Amino acid sequence: MSDSCASSEWVPLLVPDMPSPQELTPWLERMHAARHYSNYGPLVRELESEFAQRFALPVDDLTTVSNATQGLELVLQALELAPGSRILLPAFTFVATATAVVRAGHLPVLADVDPDDWMLTPDIARAACAVTPVDAVLPVATFGMPHDMKAWQQFEQDTGLPVVIDAAAAYGSQWLQGAEGTLVFSLHTTKSLPAGEGGLVVSTRTGLAARVRQLSNFGINLDPKAGMPLGSLARVGTNAKMSEYHAAIGLASLQVWEEHALERRRLHACLMEELDEASGHSLVWQRLGAGGALAAPSLLCAQLPDDGTRRALEQTCQQMHITTRRWYQPLLQHMQALLPHCQALETPHADRLASTLVGLPFFLGMEAMQRGRLKLAVSAAVKASRA
Ligand SMILES: *Cc1c(COP(=O)(O)O)cnc(C)c1O
Repeated sequence: MSDSCASSEWVPLLVPDMPSPQELTPWLERMHAARHYSNYGPLVRELESEFAQRFALPVDDLTTVSNATQGLELVLQALELAPGSRILLPAFTFVATATAVVRAGHLPVLADVDPDDWMLTPDIARAACAVTPVDAVLPVATFGMPHDMKAWQQFEQDTGLPVVIDAAAAYGSQWLQGAEGTLVFSLHTTKSLPAGEGGLVVSTRTGLAARVRQLSNFGINLDPKAGMPLGSLARVGTNAKMSEYHAAIGLASLQVWEEHALERRRLHACLMEELDEASGHSLVWQRLGAGGALAAPSLLCAQLPDDGTRRALEQTCQQMHITTRRWYQPLLQHMQALLPHCQALETPHADRLASTLVGLPFFLGMEAMQRGRLKLAVSAAVKASRA
């Protein structure tokens, strides 16, 4: 057997694309010189102003947070919906989308996704609203795929329901596109702009980002004109501040973001082509949504013709020491811990995805030998399941 099959070293699913200690040093030096380590210090403010420029928004329309999960939870709190509100979200997403809703005191209502772009679209949300009461919508930029913000703005205007996009994996892909909207990004190590841990809330809703910021700082009033003493509690918040350490990593990552995003797009396109060929053109990939292209892919997810072929591929990968993962699976309605807290609608498309999707290795610096091994696994598995 070729070396690529026999190798005992596993091909990892992903490898974080984090700045080196050397690249961090200038930022850490600045932090230490300022003796400011958290509480919206100079580096967090600089990172926020970089974001404000990129989104072409006033800096008050966004805030950093400690992670996207806290960002979602605090946005939901800041929307001041009645307790127990019904929040529509896709059944096919990472668990944090739903846990944030439950922890904010609301009920996740699980909707289907589009069979091609794998997302909860405005059309699906409209159909869901026709069969069940909904108080707000929380679509997900699935695997970083951006949403059409003009379409969601139209949805908000037509229905009066607030929409918050869980754009955790979509930094650099999901923009406001000239529309109104609320976006929550993750700056986790595995996402498109890695800061170790971190989150970003962007919202054109008046005062929303400022309320999230206050909630992230325990809910303490820091405004001398607010009609209450400085340092008194304005709302019951939590601690979800981004530290200066994390901002340092975020700033260092931002400097190479364009370059790395380009490499990610190239590698993603090459891998899809190679694997498609290896599979005899039997793989299906996430189709572009109405919101445009994926600027910085951070993982690779393939749809197989059926569950049998998927299992064959998983087994072959296991034997060839290639790591795979069923991203976003099982569906949320099959998570025991969520069951008592959510309501599921009919989800035929999500059900089909949950029996055919598998995540494959994808990371910057993936070697030719690792790619070759993955190609071999795909072609062997497809052949075996046809036999
Ligand atoms: C990663 C992810 C989250 C959680 O982000 P954190 O910053 O790790 O809290 C939430 N939703 C989706 C869709 C994600 O992919």
